[in-house]
Amino acid sequence: MAETRKTVERPAVNGKAYTFVDHKFDVVVVGAGGAGLRATLGMAEQGLKTACITKVFPTRSHTVAAQGGIAASLRNMGPDHWQWHLYDTVKGSDWLGDVDAMEYLAREAPAAVYELEHYGVPFSRTEDGRIYQRPFGGHMQNFGDGPPVQRTCAAADRTGHAILHTLYGQSVKNNAQFFIEYFALDLIMTDGVCTGVVAWNLDDGTIHRFSAKMVVLATGGYGRSYFSATSAHTCTGDGNGMAARAGLPLQDMEFVQFHPTGIYGAGCLITEGARGEGGYLVNSEGERFMERYAPSAKDLASRDVVSRCMTMEIREGRGVGRNKDHIYLHLDHLDPAVLHERLPGISESAKIFAGVDVTREPIPVLPTVHYNMGGVPTNYWGEVLNADADNPGRIQPGLMAVGEAGCASVHGANRLGSNSLIDLVVFGRAAAIRAGEVIDRETAVPDINEAACEKIMERFDRLRHANGSTPTAVLREKMQRAMQEDAAVFRTQETLEEGCRRISALWKELPDLKVYDRSMIWNSDLVETLELENLMASAITTVYGAEARKESRGAHAREDFSARDDVNWRKHTLAWVDEKGNVKLDYRPVHTETMLPVEQGGIDPAKIAPKARVY
Ligand SMILES: Cc1cc2nc3c(=O)[nH]c(=O)nc-3n(C[C@H](O)[C@H](O)[C@H](O)COP(=O)(O)OP(=O)(O)OC[C@H]3O[C@@H](n4cnc5c(N)ncnc54)[C@H](O)[C@@H]3O)c2cc1C
Repeated sequence: MAETRKTVERPAVNGKAYTFVDHKFDVVVVGAGGAGLRATLGMAEQGLKTACITKVFPTRSHTVAAQGGIAASLRNMGPDHWQWHLYDTVKGSDWLGDVDAMEYLAREAPAAVYELEHYGVPFSRTEDGRIYQRPFGGHMQNFGDGPPVQRTCAAADRTGHAILHTLYGQSVKNNAQFFIEYFALDLIMTDGVCTGVVAWNLDDGTIHRFSAKMVVLATGGYGRSYFSATSAHTCTGDGNGMAARAGLPLQDMEFVQFHPTGIYGAGCLITEGARGEGGYLVNSEGERFMERYAPSAKDLASRDVVSRCMTMEIREGRGVGRNKDHIYLHLDHLDPAVLHERLPGISESAKIFAGVDVTREPIPVLPTVHYNMGGVPTNYWGEVLNADADNPGRIQPGLMAVGEAGCASVHGANRLGSNSLIDLVVFGRAAAIRAGEVIDRETAVPDINEAACEKIMERFDRLRHANGSTPTAVLREKMQRAMQEDAAVFRTQETLEEGCRRISALWKELPDLKVYDRSMIWNSDLVETLELENLMASAITTVYGAEARKESRGAHAREDFSARDDVNWRKHTLAWVDEKGNVKLDYRPVHTETMLPVEQGGIDPAKIAPKARVY
């Protein structure tokens, strides 16, 4: 596709010229993780001219770190049904997920996994050659009655790695054009329509202005707004920041998942698959305490539940170690051959990060920030919703969001393990199907909106030349500590108000940032400053949404409002943040309608009506 190169003088700022390179595409996908690549592949397969922009090499996206697997009711290892998967997802979400989106996920999951298999993902196999599936937390037979179901399809403990490499190869094969190590700055908005995106090429310092009929945000989560997270350093919520700056709402940001088993001190993940293969947690008294809290699912209860139980054990003085501040995960009773075959990666991580030989000793673990249920609101086709209470379904033209950056919402207040990878491919694929329908191939790609691009460059310049007195790393750590302390596993009015105060005060320090490196080439100081603004947009909407929500639901556990309140709070939070850091909140109803009628094999709505959530 034609590309126009021009050099633009911007003497007002520093007397130096920027080189603009302009592009036109049907679709521009921002992000090359599982979601971005699946969308890119689907768009390219249909012959749409598709660009994929990514700040890191595609196969270094955080998806590469996904260990445990991808959920789909294939029933390769025993009985299963999409309706059971739907039930578990609804219950896991603590009745906050949108039922239409969750039904779409559960029903489409098997086809999406077989598609991955045919694209070439090297899944682990059963004796008779079918895809191997393991048990995972919260996935049960018989509408939650149990026993646990083996639903999580795995490529050893490197499932994300396998998926990412396969999807990247397929996307290249289908002529998608990659812009690798390009940092997307902001969306180009023209009269309320998204018409493209501006990105900075880190390698040569040029600024690339992409015009497109559709932009897809697939930028992943914002785990790095917390001090200790299993997420990669690149998980900085850039898509959330871009959406917020475009005046769009973020949804359900207060729901942040803590994974029960981050390695103590290091934060890196030990997959739930370790408990799926038979691992269990013990306290300082050597007790398998999960049997007490969750008699039926035990160590395989939902993540929010297990993280809370661990936190309670530690608080009540039954933590392990010198400071009694963590818990042990035992795998040493498992057959070393099974560990070697099914969990080679985590055996290695435990060795490197905890100095532990898993065949002999327990692994020290602690609940660690892992996943963001909230994000840019979408319908189940990936179309972004510019929603408010009066217009809950209003579609934002020209913009889609998929993966952890989006909020469809299939995970509601708490995501089940192995439901993110399936979310990436099901909704990445859905977005491509939808784009194929709504993109008019006959019309021209919109021209560059110079005025909008100028505003984007003004912000870029301001940050590049920021010359205050606070280094980016200093402000970032203050933000991470505030989030870690005040928006944690357990929350109260007091901690949340404190969190709002601290994050708002830090927002006021943003104009005082100091960037030391002014260069346009591989300037990590500037990259981290751009990322910090994006993290702050996510952090502030998280604490304000959490402070306002006076109930406990899924990952949002309040000690002062310990019950779920369906009458007042079974609704999605929408949060806007403006340039000055003012946060506005509004709400929209949860979609409770099922799609497939019962007579055609659909689920009986009574089966998924709200009830107490016990495992
Ligand atoms: C350690 C770990 C293990 C996990 N294990 C599992 C599991 O077993 N099963 C499961 O279902 N889920 C698992 N998850 C969750 C799941 O892996 C993630 O939710 C999912 O991979 C997110 O995928 P994504 O495509 O949305 O984003 P990512 O994979 O995070 O990709 C984001 C992409 O956006 C790009 N990007 C971001 N900002 C910009 C920008 N400004 N400009 C240009 N490009 C940008 C990045 O370069 C990257 O390509 C795990 C998560 C972690 C952290």
